[in-house]
Amino acid sequence: MASAELIQKLEQTIETIPDFPIPGIQFKDICPIFLQPKLYEEVIADLAEFSRGKVDVVCGIESRGYLFGIAIAIALDVPFVLIRKAGKLPPPFIGEKYDLEYGSAEIEMKTGHLKEGQRVLIHDDLLATGGTTEAAAKLVSKQGAIPMQFSFLIDLKDLNGEERLAKFGAEVYSILKY
Ligand code: AMP
Repeated sequence: MASAELIQKLEQTIETIPDFPIPGIQFKDICPIFLQPKLYEEVIADLAEFSRGKVDVVCGIESRGYLFGIAIAIALDVPFVLIRKAGKLPPPFIGEKYDLEYGSAEIEMKTGHLKEGQRVLIHDDLLATGGTTEAAAKLVSKQGAIPMQFSFLIDLKDLNGEERLAKFGAEVYSILKY
């Protein structure tokens, strides 16, 4: 999907910070993308193309999933629904606990914002172990909507996140694989 040129530009732009936030983690910093508006536009166009005509709603995972997810939703002209870290949403909401590459966490989502049978794209900046996206897909499924697609800028493929998501039978797309 993404052109070789886009992949190369992103590889040159995304920074890898060793041993952050804990020893052994190679942290991928996507923030330099926002210093290049044209590059950001190309990323959104590529992610939107993957989902065009295939989803009714985009769900973005806090917080870096919002940076791209909202723009994807606008490009597709579909609603955007936030998946938040625990403790921030006013009720009513539902939650799901999960394990991270480092530590554990819980995410929450408002009830009543997704409609039964809606086809959902779940977007985040990066796929590591897949725990966060798996929990997000469970929240979507619990509300009768369908996790149809998952998209990411980056897949840390050695952590086998894609395998963990296979049970949802959804299409998975990552612009870059490390
Ligand atoms: P996971 O649930 O293991 O797939 O972790 C994915 C979430 O954690 C995403 O929201 C990422 O933003 C963040 N994350 C995990 N590992 C990294 C990493 N090496 N660099 C940057 N962000 C990461």
